[in-house]
Amino acid sequence: MKKPIIGITLDYEKPGEYSKFPWYAIRKNYLQSIEDVGGFPLPLLHSLENIEDISNIIDGLVITGGNFDINPSLYGDINNNSRDNKNLRTTFELALCKKCLAKNIPIFGICGGEQLINVALGGTLIQDIKSLNLKTLEHEQLSPRNQTSHKVYIEYNTILHKIIRKKFIDVNSAHHQAVDKLGEGVIVSSKAKDGIIESIEGVNYRWCIGVQWHPEFFITRADKLIFLDFLKNCTIK
Ligand code: MN
Repeated sequence: MKKPIIGITLDYEKPGEYSKFPWYAIRKNYLQSIEDVGGFPLPLLHSLENIEDISNIIDGLVITGGNFDINPSLYGDINNNSRDNKNLRTTFELALCKKCLAKNIPIFGICGGEQLINVALGGTLIQDIKSLNLKTLEHEQLSPRNQTSHKVYIEYNTILHKIIRKKFIDVNSAHHQAVDKLGEGVIVSSKAKDGIIESIEGVNYRWCIGVQWHPEFFITRADKLIFLDFLKNCTIK
């Protein structure tokens, strides 16, 4: 049987460090995690003209994160506390996300990818958690990313709960933004103790899940279970 082909979005970097020319970047474990659960990872260049072709090839889509923020104008906000924007990357990811939603191709958003799903469905983001001046947890963990730093509490009656079957799990946390107003048909599937949204689901689609942490590190069994369920749903035609 042919392995499901999983499109994975790339980060974009200006000339410097790796190359004197513009370059794409992806952490190895984003690709390795897909291979480990039986898929074929396909990194995707930011090509707006190939959105249709990409959607014809892939059986599932992973939208990755990166050290940048979605331009707030894309969710109707002015820039208060957003950091670096990567407009070309975001434009591509939004277009591909909307295309995959329209074709009901399973979508897995990780970190910034979770936020992108919410924006694609008409939701908004908290531009900087710390600037809320609330007693929030440290969501930009100081410890290495292959360690957990806080718990997330999983809501019943969600796909995430059906997958993990636990009330809470420990996750790594590397974000300064979070989902704020929910998009159309978006529900919260977990929160941190401070109320920050840590994962969402698009209920009108076959498999549309975003998590704010980085399960591709496979730190806990729960992380791998999410990937396994994603792949299973990419296989069913
Ligand atoms: Mn967090």
